[in-house]
Amino acid sequence: MFEELTNQFEDAVKAFKGEAKISEENVDEALKQVRRALLDADVSLSVVKEFIDEVRVKAVGTEVVRGIDPGQKFIQVVHEELVNVMGGENDPLANSEEQPTVILMAGLQGAGKTTATAKLGLLLKEKNKKPLLVAADTYRPAAIDQLVTLGKQIDVEVFNLSSNLKPEEIAKKGLEKAKNEGFDTVLVDTAGRLQIDTDMMGEMVRIKEAVQPDEVLLVVDSMIGQEAADITRSFHEKVGITGAVLTKLDGDSRGGAALSIRKISGKPIKFIGTGEKVEALQPFYPERMASRILG
Ligand code: GDP
Repeated sequence: MFEELTNQFEDAVKAFKGEAKISEENVDEALKQVRRALLDADVSLSVVKEFIDEVRVKAVGTEVVRGIDPGQKFIQVVHEELVNVMGGENDPLANSEEQPTVILMAGLQGAGKTTATAKLGLLLKEKNKKPLLVAADTYRPAAIDQLVTLGKQIDVEVFNLSSNLKPEEIAKKGLEKAKNEGFDTVLVDTAGRLQIDTDMMGEMVRIKEAVQPDEVLLVVDSMIGQEAADITRSFHEKVGITGAVLTKLDGDSRGGAALSIRKISGKPIKFIGTGEKVEALQPFYPERMASRILG
């Protein structure tokens, strides 16, 4: 794997030719190439800056063992730091001792929230759990039909009320039903908007207060580019997230949003969406994403 990355960072590797250790003087050229790679991967500019500063501190002074090229060592340091920043390991979904575990899905319209809700429902069902999907997206009524259809497809019950109740009331009633009927997990699909919007945030806060979730998962489209940073900042400041789902990684996005989300919120990406089908959900592995981001 490092061989591929070393090829990718040929110029960076060359910058160390003939040097015995990574020093302040020879690291800058190499860092420039890393910076370009991160920006190409759509990591947000402020996050790139912060990351580069951290890598510089880690890399400078690194002694290079005999037989290893300092260039290769440098790439290894960058890769390791990227993995560390993204959490090192996969972080599992919350599982509350007191059932049901409540998971609130948040995100902009089109990010893949409703799809991710169904995907998580299927994943839990396959683990012999009993999830209930709650359709609280009253802003886009088609989302309710969409969730109902997906629920039938995966054979998981969907709670929806076609009355004029507020989303927080629907969510609360869904939770009551789950408690009364022995569902162990409640997944609440909420309404997004096309962009950050105070109505949406107010609604999210009210739903959060009503159901006291164990997990608030921000669903982010990996194709959205640098904007992922602002979206994460807004949702985390106003609502408070516990993790994220990064969708549409079956596309050609390099996944830089993963680094931005983690750096800005400090919260882990827990899953990635890799297709439109309900099965297309995978746990997030920092190691794999680091390689993807770099090259
Ligand atoms: P919501 O508005 O956030 O609820 O978004 P939807 O769940 O309705 O998804 C918006 C569109 O993205 C739909 O056409 C989904 O099929 C598609 N979508 C969701 N997740 C993925 C994914 O991981 N990969 C791909 N290729 N498409 C996805």
